[in-house]
Amino acid sequence: MSHKFVIVGAGLSGLSNAFFIKHFFPKAQITLVEQSNRVGGMIISNNRNGFICEEGPRSIRMGKYNRPLYHILNKIGLYKEFVPSIQQPYSYIYWNGKLNAVPLQMNLETISQFVQDNGSGDVFKLIKAYPKMLFKKLDTDNLGDYLELVLGRDLTEKYAESVFYGIYGESVYNLSKALCYQKSHMKGYDEQQISKDLSFDKDFEQARDQKLKGANSYRFKEGVESLPKRMHAYLQETYESDYKVKLNSKAKCIDLSRKELVVESREEQEEQRLNYDYLILNAPTHQLSQIMINSNLNKVGEMFRGVKCNTLVTRNICWDQKILPKEFKGFGYLINPKQQQVILGMVADSLSFPSQYPENATNLSVMSIYDVNDHVILSELSKHLGVKIPDPKEIVTKSWSKAFTQFSPGHQEEMKKIESELNAKSIIIGANNYTLAIPELVYLSYSKVKQLYL
Ligand SMILES: Cc1cc2nc3c(=O)[nH]c(=O)nc-3n(C[C@H](O)[C@H](O)[C@H](O)COP(=O)(O)OP(=O)(O)OC[C@H]3O[C@@H](n4cnc5c(N)ncnc54)[C@H](O)[C@@H]3O)c2cc1C
Repeated sequence: MSHKFVIVGAGLSGLSNAFFIKHFFPKAQITLVEQSNRVGGMIISNNRNGFICEEGPRSIRMGKYNRPLYHILNKIGLYKEFVPSIQQPYSYIYWNGKLNAVPLQMNLETISQFVQDNGSGDVFKLIKAYPKMLFKKLDTDNLGDYLELVLGRDLTEKYAESVFYGIYGESVYNLSKALCYQKSHMKGYDEQQISKDLSFDKDFEQARDQKLKGANSYRFKEGVESLPKRMHAYLQETYESDYKVKLNSKAKCIDLSRKELVVESREEQEEQRLNYDYLILNAPTHQLSQIMINSNLNKVGEMFRGVKCNTLVTRNICWDQKILPKEFKGFGYLINPKQQQVILGMVADSLSFPSQYPENATNLSVMSIYDVNDHVILSELSKHLGVKIPDPKEIVTKSWSKAFTQFSPGHQEEMKKIESELNAKSIIIGANNYTLAIPELVYLSYSKVKQLYL
């Protein structure tokens, strides 16, 4: 049987799909269609005068769900360039005009601080929950899940709020639905089963255990973008003509009866038609909506259109001196949008990955909901940190328009309907639509390809 795969999007999802397709279908012919002039999608690392500026993801979390990614890192040899994060004792939450340190492991003291700040009468409930906090083993690395386990839903929604609002700018209720959704995909994650498919070498294991010991996240010597770049180079070198990437080519619509993807290329005058046995779509939700409508799949197109998406602006700000207050010892901070600040949060890259920055330098990534002048960001930052901030050496700004899908109640069921309708037509929706972190996204790419194989 022939296995022609056409994949839309050469971000991490598309590249991971290609990797696992070749694993399960060695004879497959793969074509990736990418509208931009590069592979990597959201993963963009720039070296600006010695400062690694991550415009998209800045680190990859360790822990559960990493096995499929480790398998890839082993194959492409990138584990030799692991850079571990330095564990910081705190994260911070900006609350009532100041930064509050939150130990990585939530404890009664921290939570009661928020209860007091809120002036509510939940102290008794917290005291009741305390024994559970002591004795309940964490079988999750998700703070929301943990709090729910020990505090119950009501209190979690109240007190996890400041943590989660900061990132998503939406209600915790919606976010908890998103987590449920994510978990429904992660439920099939079975380390033992995966290890039968995806092995890695002793060398890899040794390097990982040595280099990443004590770290909770990692990246690579030249930044996170090494991952898609190396995957692409490996796929090209190993599979030659069975693996093709068409850059500057935009997927426009699907001819369902002929099983063809219609592609508009910036370099060629005429539309191209790519015949497929399986079509995998990793474009973001709002783009999928257009592709579906162009393909007369109006119902699915409208369903995609109904998915809300968040926009985010990231700014890498670099100084050749230390600017953080001495007592600041953390990964970064988050802000509850109810506090009405332009900034949503900050990540202290140069504290987490000091070996990647010049000595005494500072590199902060600041996230905001919308774009404003640099000086507005700098003056707000200065207020949060309580220090005077000198002029930076470099500022690298990137706007992520509608980058994050945001799930609302009932959405999970809607997405399931979309998926089953499309799967019947040999069309698979990629991991992009689930707002996942890198290890989960690679796992999902693997599990979707494996489902086709089974
Ligand atoms: C600011 C930011 C910070 C993040 N931080 C982290 C982090 O610290 N850790 C972490 O684990 N994850 C993080 N993430 C999430 C992670 O980066 C993403 O989940 C992941 O990179 C998404 O990969 P993808 O391939 O699914 O999508 P994308 O990277 O968006 O790739 C989709 C590709 O499809 C192409 N495309 C779109 N439409 C078409 C079309 N019609 N035709 C052809 N091509 C098309 C796009 O050009 C793009 O290259 C972050 C994301 C952002 C934006």
